[in-house]
Amino acid sequence: MKGIRGRITFTYMILIVLTLIISGVYTLQFIERVYMDNLRKTLVDEARILANWVSPYMVAPDSSMPYISELSSTVHSSTGKRITVFSKNGEPLYDTSLRPFEDARSKPEIEQALHGQVGSDIRLDPSKGTNVLLVAVPVTGGPDVLGVIRVGLPLSGAYQELRHAWGSVGISLLAVAVISSLVGAYFALGIARPIEEITRVTRRIASGAFHERVRYRAQDELGVLGESVNLMATRLSDQIEDLTQEKSKLEGIIASMDSGVMVVDRSGRVLVVNRATESLLRHAGRKLLGQWHWEVGRSYGLSSMIDEVLLTGEPRRKEIVLTSPVETNLELFATPIKGKNESIVGAVVVLHDVSKWRRVEQMRTEFVANVSHELRTPITAVRGFAETLLDGALEDPEMRKQFIKIIYEESDRLSRLVNDLLELSKIESGHAVLQFEVCEMNNLVKTTVDKLVHQAGQNGLTLEAHVPEEPIFAEVAKDRISQVLINLIANAIVYTSEGGRIDVYLEEAEDRVTVRVQDTGIGIPKEDLPRLFERFYRVDKARARRSGGTGLGLAIVKHIVEAHEGTVDVQSTVGKGSTFSFSLPKRQL
Ligand code: ADP
Repeated sequence: MKGIRGRITFTYMILIVLTLIISGVYTLQFIERVYMDNLRKTLVDEARILANWVSPYMVAPDSSMPYISELSSTVHSSTGKRITVFSKNGEPLYDTSLRPFEDARSKPEIEQALHGQVGSDIRLDPSKGTNVLLVAVPVTGGPDVLGVIRVGLPLSGAYQELRHAWGSVGISLLAVAVISSLVGAYFALGIARPIEEITRVTRRIASGAFHERVRYRAQDELGVLGESVNLMATRLSDQIEDLTQEKSKLEGIIASMDSGVMVVDRSGRVLVVNRATESLLRHAGRKLLGQWHWEVGRSYGLSSMIDEVLLTGEPRRKEIVLTSPVETNLELFATPIKGKNESIVGAVVVLHDVSKWRRVEQMRTEFVANVSHELRTPITAVRGFAETLLDGALEDPEMRKQFIKIIYEESDRLSRLVNDLLELSKIESGHAVLQFEVCEMNNLVKTTVDKLVHQAGQNGLTLEAHVPEEPIFAEVAKDRISQVLINLIANAIVYTSEGGRIDVYLEEAEDRVTVRVQDTGIGIPKEDLPRLFERFYRVDKARARRSGGTGLGLAIVKHIVEAHEGTVDVQSTVGKGSTFSFSLPKRQL
């Protein structure tokens, strides 16, 4: 009886049964009343006929007793009813049942008859154990009441007939009840079916099946309800689609961001986290979603900042340093997320890796220190020797010549240093616009090597270029590449002992061209190789200075090659020699 169908059927049945019971009881009562009235009327008629007959004998009842009893017996024998004759005082004179007389005066029907009215009563007859209908009429002679005739009928027969009537009415009512219940259940089914369908569909929609639709179509209220449910499902599915798209867009943006993004809820649980955060906090491969922020933070700084933002609702900015596994500078911005009534519902943290900028800053500071240091050495020398000359050394022609030579060399070194610095800063800042042109590399390498063959020879070295016969063309800034080559060969000359060799190779591979400068010089220790192309980096500082180098040659090489989208490389074995190479794309994009 839980479903709507059951409830409608049940209510309908209760209504039918109640209606049938009430109408049945009312009908039966009516039938009983009419039946009893008719019975009473018959008795009254019979009593009246007898009263008329016995009326002449009731003037002197004692002497007319035989007539009275005969007339009464005649009626009794033809109707089967008990007849009792009473005197005008209410005393019984004759009774067809020949039973002992009761105290008739106390009986209500006799009382009424003695007053000239028709009296009647229904009483239990103890001798028969059944109810008896008693009707009493006065026997009149003119205006006087001469006696009373009472007719009695046991109601057992009448009751039986009434019971029959009850039975047949009951059976027909039961039949009506069963038929109406079946009809009711059928109608209930008709009403309940669309409701059940709408209920099923709405339940499916609520569980996420937005494609479900109500198929019941009718012009009634349920039809309208079904249509509204369908419309609602369409709108809902459209909105959810929009939301999903927005969400995936947002997720895509957050996921592809270089900066780390992390969202925590009020309790400190991580709700959103992107891959950048995982790699910045060195958590690659670990699931951070749903963790507590202090488990994720890896740094007291980050966790305490999130707690502060959650507590105060104020945005915070901070830089922290993660030490393991490598030192990383992270800049953090944390902003509160505010919900209704300005309440804090969480916080967003954005993480930037600023290590590169910090390193650049550090390098700049170091660079200034290095430049000052590099400049100071020749300046001190120039000043020192100039002072010595002024202090009297000018007089000594030997010393004068030697000192002036040193001053010249140092100033030359100063000028080279300044030139290299200017060159480097020009390339770095992008002011030196490279003039790319298609150039035959074979020729470029050969002419550059030729320029230095003499210098190499003076140092007791053999310098040779090995270029293929086939011309190799590449789009390069000719003068710059020539400068790169000069720097590399000049270094090879400086760092190779007398009797050694320097070989320059030109090679091509697919869309690239490679130049290698190989010497049999002193070589470079392995640990110095990674930093070799840094500004002012020297392996053997004393020797490098003595050679007159500025410490900027390789830095310039690297910058020029990178401006060509090329790469530099060095391989070296201490005591055996070094090979510096650079590789360039044949075409500039
Ligand atoms: P420098 O002007 O001092 O030569 P570079 O930038 O040209 O400055 O070179 C940096 C350092 O690299 C040198 O000081 C030297 O120690 C080392 N180096 C460069 N080329 C060679 C080479 N061919 N063989 C050995 N060491 C080299």
